[in-house]
Order: sequence, then structure tokens, then C-alpha cells
Amino acid sequence: MNVHDSEKIAGIFSESGYGTAMDIKGADVVVLNTCNIRQKAAQKLYSDLGRLKKIKKNRPGLKVAVAGCIAQQTGSDLFKRFPYVDFVFGPGNIDNLRKWIEGNTVRTALHNNSDYHLKTLPMKREGRVKAWVSIMYGCDNFCAYCVVPYTRGRERSRPSRDILREVENIAREGYKEVTLLGQNVNSYGKKLEEQITFPDLLKVLHNVYGIERIRFVTSHPRDFSGNLVIAMKDLPKICEHLHLPMQSGSDRVLKSMNRSYTFREYKEKISMVRKAVPGIAITTDVIAGFPGETEEDFEQTVSALKEIEFDGIFAFKYSQRPDTRALELAGHINEEKKSLRLARILELQDSITQKINVSLEGETVEVLVEGISETDRDKMTGRTRTNKIEHFTGSDQDIGKMLDIRILEAKRHSLLGERVQGA
Ligand code: SAH
Ligand code: SF4
Repeated sequence: MNVHDSEKIAGIFSESGYGTAMDIKGADVVVLNTCNIRQKAAQKLYSDLGRLKKIKKNRPGLKVAVAGCIAQQTGSDLFKRFPYVDFVFGPGNIDNLRKWIEGNTVRTALHNNSDYHLKTLPMKREGRVKAWVSIMYGCDNFCAYCVVPYTRGRERSRPSRDILREVENIAREGYKEVTLLGQNVNSYGKKLEEQITFPDLLKVLHNVYGIERIRFVTSHPRDFSGNLVIAMKDLPKICEHLHLPMQSGSDRVLKSMNRSYTFREYKEKISMVRKAVPGIAITTDVIAGFPGETEEDFEQTVSALKEIEFDGIFAFKYSQRPDTRALELAGHINEEKKSLRLARILELQDSITQKINVSLEGETVEVLVEGISETDRDKMTGRTRTNKIEHFTGSDQDIGKMLDIRILEAKRHSLLGERVQGA
């Protein structure tokens, strides 16, 4: 979501006649678009700002803006510690960047921009094959660990006609794949005047000529509905991949996280979608060392991972975030223990992912080719419908094509394949 916001920021600069500098030395303006989901991301901002201070000393004309969720939460306090910052704006005020670019004497844009979701911003997208489209902003869930409701505000859905127009536009520009973005896409449409649900929206977008693949992130397990499963089963453009954040395998922890589902309910949803969409890849998010997580709770998460066998997970050590309710909870866990738990989860998952991917060797899959591989410049890279990274020998000419690729070998974080001749 943060990367997609950067595409909007770049879009507004582009609209105002700015281009992208090759490096900081050639830049007139630097925008740091920040993430505040975990402390680590915040630390990065402070070290980048330290570097910019030195550069600005030699080049006082350089303008520095701080955007994103740290900007939103820290607000004008940022000026106290970093007086050389020129402009601070939040993720719901990207449109107000224009005022600053036009030379107005504004220093912040952090207010509740109540019609932000009604605006379609210009976009300078990364790549020409797949595109992100925001369908909603903010979140009303207040999971105890999470800063998002405080930085991105209340949940607002974009009107479906605006989303449709944007998807039609990207299709016309040649994009083949769209990923719909929202913190909880399953509650899309809730506060809109039009009567529309997320599965309805999927049906509308499914008709867009030129779009061949549809993905979405993220689904909250509580709101992951039977109707969505039916849509996933019936609409062929929806890819066979679901990211469904579990967070923990312990009901006690899930309750104190305010996730409002039990592990059993979570498992039932997984069974439902696996039954309806055979071969679907399922990924998840897990937090290790949430306050009060006992050894027993943690072991329940470990068993959950063994039982469900996800295709992949994103696992994080619990990180204390400003304003969140989890700060008040008893039983905060030290870094060392959190690290040990995280390492154990990651190691276990590596073996599960490896096992699943090895079982795919020999299969032929559809790959949408995105570009040259970053890790091996001799290979092309793309993704399977199940969102797995596939490398194969090919050429620039393949970019944007859907190819049949036979999987030869499961690597640690990708699959190695070869093009099926005649395909
Ligand atoms: N809206 C999405 C999640 C967005 S944040 C959802 O609910 O599924 C992405 C992931 O970051 C979360 O799923 C969670 O696993 C992790 N995360 C969020 N806050 C965190 C924190 N304080 N510490 C560690 N991980 C966190
Ligand atoms: Fe954060 Fe929970 Fe909202 Fe996801 S659903 S953004 S984890 S508060």
C-alpha cells in the first residue's frame, strides 16, 4: 500500500512537470514516504533524514518532504527534531501535495481529508504489466497491535464507478493484471450509498477487456465470506491465491489481539476455499511474541502452521506501536525470546514451502512475464497464478506475455522453469 502511495506521489510530481532523478545528487526534491507498521521501518526514516541533513547543508535549495504513516502520526513534531524538513503530509493527503509543489506556504497536510476516497489521483506506476488499484482506504478493526487505524483513519470505500474507470484505463494502457488494495477488502462497500459488496465489485471488474488476472489484498478472516469463495470459484480471472492473515494459532492470543475469530473458524474458512478452488495457494501473516503469548500459545501457532501448511508466510516479531491498545497489555516479551520464536517459525515454514514447491516440479503453469530477474540477469521473471515467482530462460520480448512454463526445480524463494516448446 505504501509503495502504491509512492506511485501516486510520483504521479502528482509528474503531472507538475517533474521527472525522476537518477540519484539524490541530481534531485531538487526528496520525498521520504514512510511506513509505520513496525519500529524497524521508522528507524529507517531517521537514518535517511540524518543523511539528508548533510546533503542539505551543502545544497540549501534541496527540498525535503516526509510522507506516509510516520508523517501522519508524528505530525509537526518532526520539525522539532528535523528542522530542515520542508513539508510533512499524511497518506490521506497525497492530493494536497499539489499545493506545496505550486509554492504555497504550507508546511503540513495532515487533516482529515474527508473526500480523499472520492478522488482519482494521477499515477506513475512501476512496471507495465501489473498494477495496483486502491479500492478503499483506512481501517475500522483496531487490532490491538496495529497502528493503521490511527495513521490511515476510518475505513472509506471508493465508488465502484471510479474503480472501474481506473481499471479500464490500465487495461487500455496494456496492463494485464490488477491487484485490488484495501486493509480489509471483504468489507468493501459498507459505507457507500450504492449497494455493492466486494464479490459484486469483482464481478464488475471481471468484465474489463484486457485484464486477464485479478488479485486482492488483504482479507480479514472474520469477513472472508462464502460469497467471495463463490466469486473466486466462478470468475476465471481471479487468481488461485489467497492471503489470509492468521496472526496466531492461539485463541487466547487472537482474542487479546482483537481479531474476532477463533483458530477453528479460521481453519474452516481455509477448508472452504481449498474445497472450492483446488490448487489454491494460501499465504498468511504471523506475529511472534505478542504481549502475553505463553510457550503454550506459541506452540499452538507452530502446530497451526504444520496443520494448515501455508504456501508462504510473512512473520514478524511483535513491535510496540504508538497509540495501540497492546501497549497496555501485561506480559511484554523480550527481544531475545521474540527473535527465537520468529526464527523457529521461519525455519519451520521454509521446510513446508520447500515441500509444497518440490511437489510442483514437473507441472506446467501459466506465468505472466514481468521482466528480467534481479537475482539472475540471464533469466526472465514472472509469477504463476498462485503468486509464486518463476524464473526461466527467455528474452525481453516475453515481457507482458502469458507463457506456459514447466517447473523444473523448486528453489528457496522461487521456482526455476523452462518454456514449454510451441506454447
Ligand atoms: N490489513 C491487513 C494487515 C496490514 S499490516 C490485515 O489485517 O490483514 C500487515 C501485517 O503486519 C499484519 O498482518 C501483521 O501481521 C503485521 N503487523 C501489524 N502490526 C504489527 C506490529 N505492531 N508488530 C508486528 N507485526 C505487525
Ligand atoms: Fe491493522 Fe487489523 Fe486493520 Fe489489518 S485489520 S490494518 S491488522 S487494524
